[in-house]
Amino acid sequence: MTVYLVVAAHPDDPDFGVAGSAARLARDGHAVHYLVLTSGDAGSEDPFVPPAELMRAREAEQEAAGRILGLTSVHFLRFPDGELEPTLELRKAIVRVMRQLKADIVLCQDPRSLVDDDSTYLNHPDHRAGGQAALDAAFPAAGNPSAFRGLLAEGLDAHKVKEVWLYFAGRQHVNHFVDITETLDQKVDALAAHASQLGDWATSGGLRAEMTKWAEETAQRHQLAFRYAEAFQRIVLEAEPVRPPE
Ligand SMILES: [Zn+2]
Repeated sequence: MTVYLVVAAHPDDPDFGVAGSAARLARDGHAVHYLVLTSGDAGSEDPFVPPAELMRAREAEQEAAGRILGLTSVHFLRFPDGELEPTLELRKAIVRVMRQLKADIVLCQDPRSLVDDDSTYLNHPDHRAGGQAALDAAFPAAGNPSAFRGLLAEGLDAHKVKEVWLYFAGRQHVNHFVDITETLDQKVDALAAHASQLGDWATSGGLRAEMTKWAEETAQRHQLAFRYAEAFQRIVLEAEPVRPPE
């Protein structure tokens, strides 16, 4: 069993990026955890909704999505939405969770993405900040006993992350693909659980159509042998040790 930790800036980000893969890995018997850095308290067009109310609603939606996908757990760090920065405080908080869960493989947003490949989307600054903090937590801090020494007093020994998979990476970077043909429906259902964000789009069928198109285009663009895919840039930090010849 491998321990996967998906780090995301906002509720719903991990479901857009990796939900099909998360459901597939959970179905295959792996532990899959989500770590959401904010609780989406800026995710309303109505500035008079109290932030605490929005946080509760959005955490509940993310937890419901997690149950649909068969996740092992969903964690929230509750940093302020819209104000995420790749600070040492955020890095340390992520390292803490990586060590608690003994994450083998970390999935996070690609902090290099400013604009999408089709020039139709400006990436949210929280996505870049969260991705940067997650990368910096994965290497070297999680595995370095001298980094954030206070964590040792919490009983959290250094733990080396073996791989990082960047999601929402540009086309020129992706090198790893997960077959989500059998879990695309779970992805759509998980996203539909974010009713405060995607309500009408989900109920009208637009969400299903768009997620199907994304996954199909990914598979076709990379000439994969399966119908629907999610794409990642996989970085292997710690290869299996090579046995010296006898
Ligand atoms: Zn987001």
